[in-house]
Amino acid sequence: MADQQQEAARRPGGGKIAVTNVRVFDGRQLVPGGTVVISGGRIGTDPVGAQVIDGRGGVLLPGLIDAHVHLDGPGRLAALAGYGVTTALDMASVPEETAALRGRPGQTDIRSAGIPAIAPGSLHSHIPGVGQRGLIAGPDEAKRFVADRVAEGSDYIKIVVGSPLADHEQATIDALVAVAHEQGKLVVAHASSVESVAKAQAAGADILTHAPRDGVLDPVAVARAVAAGRVVVPTLAMMEAIVNNLAPPDADYAYSRASVAALHEAGVPILAGTDANDSPGTPSRVPHGDSLHHELELLVDAGLSPRDALRAATSLPARYFGLPDRGAIEPGLRADLVLIGDDPLRDIRATRSIRRIWCGGYEVQPAGTGT
Ligand SMILES: [Zn+2]
Repeated sequence: MADQQQEAARRPGGGKIAVTNVRVFDGRQLVPGGTVVISGGRIGTDPVGAQVIDGRGGVLLPGLIDAHVHLDGPGRLAALAGYGVTTALDMASVPEETAALRGRPGQTDIRSAGIPAIAPGSLHSHIPGVGQRGLIAGPDEAKRFVADRVAEGSDYIKIVVGSPLADHEQATIDALVAVAHEQGKLVVAHASSVESVAKAQAAGADILTHAPRDGVLDPVAVARAVAAGRVVVPTLAMMEAIVNNLAPPDADYAYSRASVAALHEAGVPILAGTDANDSPGTPSRVPHGDSLHHELELLVDAGLSPRDALRAATSLPARYFGLPDRGAIEPGLRADLVLIGDDPLRDIRATRSIRRIWCGGYEVQPAGTGT
């Protein structure tokens, strides 16, 4: 499937395109009718000689960024790109497999945590491929763990905190964060309970992912996140799927939603991430690509304005994951663009009205419209 997608990607008009008469969500706000030039895989400035696409009535978005996916098999990149997700941040995968997916022209661009730090005996230790490789038994293994990830090309370090059956000691999480920071790596902590959020915050993790399903973060926890400049990727699509599909005891989606509302209200940056995966062993399958649009809807339902939801999938993940070449529509940035038919500031569901997609300047067929 990936090869078919690559064949479908194409650069019409010698690679230079001008989308005219189009409203532009530049990564921060919606600006009125203008022209955006695609040239040499980047956003250009000179429309002379370009193939013209009349964008009248439409809105041009920066390519969407999903800040929590799993690249757990073939075809995932094509699925993501077909829904306008031109960058995907993988949060656990086998690095030898993910390496082959990096930097493919015309396909979704990825970053990856590689193997996450997992407590021996925990539920996550049974995940095929990554569970056993990620085991860390104590703080004295933190240096070795981080060095292995750096050697394998991990872009950031992921720690699974609060896994059922067994969890890391606080000292282990503390040591992992300290060593990762010494190595200049961001730390993303999986934390889907109130207690695990407290442990991840105490250790100084930069980014929390998931949102507690067992209770609402209290004002002290929220204030702590604000004070530390912490960022949250709540993966509401997965929280909703787990509660709906598995109905675990004491879990309620309303808790996750309320924590996102409180964090956002307090000024904690919220990033759109889905936990998209297609692995039989995971709690719930969430479809790649399509789910990011559902995540935007859930973020708005939790209290983000449509504009803040769009920022959560464009400029904010670019800023907090250190991707300065994307997440906005400005000359010189990657030509990752999604042309939609309706106004997403009026109704966030408009992000689904995809007309055309460009991924690094290559045009990609929207999902469901290909031959
Ligand atoms: Zn995940």
